[in-house]
Amino acid sequence: MQNISEIEELIRLISKLPGLGPKSAKRIVLKLINNREELTKPMAKALAEIYNGVSRCKNCGTLKSNSLGCNNCESSNNKFNKICIVENISDQWTIENSNIYQGYYHILGGTISSSNNGSSKQDLLIDSLINRIKKEKIDEVILATSATIEGQTTAFYIQNSLKDTNVKISKLAQGLPIGGEIENLDDGTLISAFKNRKKI
Ligand SMILES: [Zn+2]
Repeated sequence: MQNISEIEELIRLISKLPGLGPKSAKRIVLKLINNREELTKPMAKALAEIYNGVSRCKNCGTLKSNSLGCNNCESSNNKFNKICIVENISDQWTIENSNIYQGYYHILGGTISSSNNGSSKQDLLIDSLINRIKKEKIDEVILATSATIEGQTTAFYIQNSLKDTNVKISKLAQGLPIGGEIENLDDGTLISAFKNRKKI
């Protein structure tokens, strides 16, 4: 490609997306350029709508449409005494699909990491988590972060932050494969990790 700065910029941005490198980014950009009306125009509109209309709930950390309430916080009539801490909303969907757990969720929106891609500690909404534990009279906090170094570091940080609440904290069992991300686990592994969770 002959150094057209708009194209270079889009390739640079797209290659930052998960699973994509510069080569696939180039193919995507070419596809967009060749399908302006069918793809580029509606995609630009959809991106603007996501940017302006979707945000994180400041209470539980899930994604919500700005024009509606939060599904996690507002539409549940059930009262629970557990909160499950997950990294991403896709982890919540995986756990919900397995039917092993009934309770609230707290979505961290990532893990603490020293790299620029990691969340800052404020992003984890720890203050809100502590408020929720008190307000909802929570008995147990289940740490369901991934079995990666970042996931475990984040779990340890949360465990420390909750010291003064005296809430029971448990962690998914060691059956999780090392490096295992929650959203990629099969139901059997996930169910056994929940059943055998350990108090820490
Ligand atoms: Zn919420």
